Order: sequence, then C-alpha cells, then structure tokens
Amino acid sequence: MVKRHTYWTPQRKRRLLSLFRELYPNPRSELNFRGNYQLVVSVALSAQCTDKKVNEVTPALFETYPDFSALAKARQSDVERIIRQVNYYKSKSKNIIAMAKKVTEEFSGKLPRDRKKLESLAGVGRKTASVVLSERGIEPAFPVDTHVFRVARRLELAFSEKRDEVEEEIKAAFAPETWRELHHWLIFHGRRVCKAQRPLCEECALLKLCVYDS
Ligand code: SF4
Repeated sequence: MVKRHTYWTPQRKRRLLSLFRELYPNPRSELNFRGNYQLVVSVALSAQCTDKKVNEVTPALFETYPDFSALAKARQSDVERIIRQVNYYKSKSKNIIAMAKKVTEEFSGKLPRDRKKLESLAGVGRKTASVVLSERGIEPAFPVDTHVFRVARRLELAFSEKRDEVEEEIKAAFAPETWRELHHWLIFHGRRVCKAQRPLCEECALLKLCVYDS
C-alpha cells in the first residue's frame, strides 16, 4: 500500500522545488551525448557506472561506430576493448550490439518512441526507457536510479523499497511537468550532498525541510 504523503503539503513541495531550482538552475543529464543513438547507448552503459567513466569511453566508441547501423556490424571484442573501463563491459558490449541490430533490422535504424518497443531492446530496462522518453520530450517520465531512490526515500517523498513503486509515489505526488527536473535535481543532490555513505546534512540547503534522521 502506498503510504500517504501527509508531511509534504503543497506548500512544502513548492518550497522544495524552489530550493532545488536555486541550487541547480540547469538540471540536465551529466552524460555527454548528441541524438537518440548516443543517448540510448550512453544510458545503457551508465548502469552501475559513473557518468564520468561513461563520458571517458563514449567519444572513441561513437567515433568508431557513429550510428546504429555501424554498431550493429561491430565485433564484440572490438567494442569491449573500447569500453573496458566501464563496469560489466562484456555484457554491455553484447547488449548494445544486439540493441543496434534490432533497431537497424526492425525499426529502420530509428530508435522507437514507444516504451514497450524501447524495453524490447537488449540492455534497455524501464529506467533507460524512461530516460529516453523524458530526455527526448516524448512523454513525461520519472526514471529512478540509485540516487533518486536514496534521496527520495531520505526526504520521505517516497517510502517503498522497490524502485517501481518509488516511481509511482513520486509521480502521484508531483505534477508531470516537474518530473524531468525533479529527477535531475535528486541525482545532482545525491551526487554532491546527500551521498550514499555519509550525507552532508550540516551543509545541506534542504536540512530544514528534511525529515531524515541520521
Ligand atoms: S538533510 Fe541530509 S538526508 Fe536530508 S536531503 Fe540533505 S543531505 Fe540528504
């Protein structure tokens, strides 16, 4: 059962969004990409890996394989060599090649704009599909990664221990037009202040609003 958000009155939610807006005026992905091909490959590589590490390998990857069609013809060992600094580089190499093949053969080389079709691609789960839908402005979505999950729960914006349910709790509590920015703000805050091991509560601008008791 979804716990009720009694603490987060409309006024407090507005205050939270306004504080986030002041803290991080330019909420955007920290992955470097241009276009749908680079976006979906970068996001697929970023699972269990930092954006910084992904950004280090993607220039060479995209130079060697500039589109789905080129990547579809790649040898797995060649892709592995380029992205070997990324966690799970072997399975990720296999997945992005399979993804590129399917996009080339079944979707005429164009990344589908439909969640179901996106999630049918190798290496594309709910979170990656949500990022694509949200970043490309196809439809409002709220991707939940490890930072979003942790910070949302510490702030008691969500209570569930399952990512899919955290997504539903946030979507029920905030208007769709805020989802994309809120997603990025929670990630920014999780990386810089509300860190996994030791949240920097003493220097957190959200301290007065936060119910987390370390
Ligand atoms: S006060 Fe602490 S727990 Fe709450 S959002 Fe800030 S860093 Fe995270």
